[in-house]
Amino acid sequence: MLDRRALQVRPISDKLKHTSSDDLAACLSGITGQGQDAHEIVEDYEQALASWFNVPHALAVSSGGAALTVAYSALDVQPGDEVVLPPTCPLCTIYPIMQLGAVPVFCDTRTDNFGLDLDDLARVITARTKAIVEVPMWGYPTHLVELSAYAKSRGIPLILDLAHSHGSTLGGQSLAHYGDISCFSTHDRKPLSTGEGGFMLFRDDAVYRRARSFSRFGDLDGRTFGINHKLSPVQASLGRSRLRKLANQVEARRANAAIVRSGLERTDFEEFATPAGGQTNYYFMLVQLGRQRAKSVIDFLDTHGVPSDIKRYGCKALYEFPLCAPYRRACPQAENLLASITTLPVHPDLRREDLDHMIDVLAAYRE
Ligand SMILES: *Cc1c(COP(=O)(O)O)cnc(C)c1O
Repeated sequence: MLDRRALQVRPISDKLKHTSSDDLAACLSGITGQGQDAHEIVEDYEQALASWFNVPHALAVSSGGAALTVAYSALDVQPGDEVVLPPTCPLCTIYPIMQLGAVPVFCDTRTDNFGLDLDDLARVITARTKAIVEVPMWGYPTHLVELSAYAKSRGIPLILDLAHSHGSTLGGQSLAHYGDISCFSTHDRKPLSTGEGGFMLFRDDAVYRRARSFSRFGDLDGRTFGINHKLSPVQASLGRSRLRKLANQVEARRANAAIVRSGLERTDFEEFATPAGGQTNYYFMLVQLGRQRAKSVIDFLDTHGVPSDIKRYGCKALYEFPLCAPYRRACPQAENLLASITTLPVHPDLRREDLDHMIDVLAAYRE
């Protein structure tokens, strides 16, 4: 066992560097200054996304936040309508609901993952509930089979915010398979990066058409409202090129996570749970620290160069933020989850010594 004083500070980057001259070449050769070509570049990217995720329709949009705005709008969320979501997600998921004048309603999570708790969901649904939003955090799948069956039985559309979950699967299918609308971000911190950007996946033709039209000024027909949330062809071209590498990237993340997982046996800590049949993309690896010692472990990791998203973003239940306080509804299971874990980076740029260092630090932690 290592002495904690013997551990050096080795700053570990929590972000994959997406730099490659191939990306740039693909990007520049696709943009010719002809409007027609630009349009085709975006459609080609959308087709590639639909086929990669094995869903009927994809729509490229300007950001993950735009994807959520378009999703709520395509489901006709109006002022005063209610949208149910977990308080464990980022502010990015709730602001578009507030912008539409709709009412965010917090539902507690399960005790074992970031999925909505079905008993609590039954308590918060009302006649005004227009949509249910599920947010699998850091790429870890939730119990989407049960949730999607329940949403269907109540006749309420299910939106999945999969901004972390490119490549996560359940029952061999992308998580997007289980939602009516799935929203992704391709912001530079996400597994597929176009700098800024996002996309949406759909199983239903009519919902897809409404979303597409809304994101393009209602097709400028003067009857259907919409605004511009289109993705630029420069970013679409970059996304198309990087999508070819996404499967390898997810494989590399899983291989790194397997190394860390076997190393965890030398520590007092365990990996966060995944539902049966679920596979995470390891956007980040989640480790259970326990509520009593989580803060002190996270500080210890930080002192030794191992960053945590929990510390970086000050993760806490959304209703603890002033702007969301008016919607406060205590969700003790969600609070407990956020206060008991940390994230570890396992992206493909990390070296074996970085992975070993993270395990050494965890193994050296003493209360
Ligand atoms: C990043 C993120 C968003 C917002 O995506 P942007 O592309 O930054 O607008 C929304 N939801 C979740 C869960 C995210 O992580």
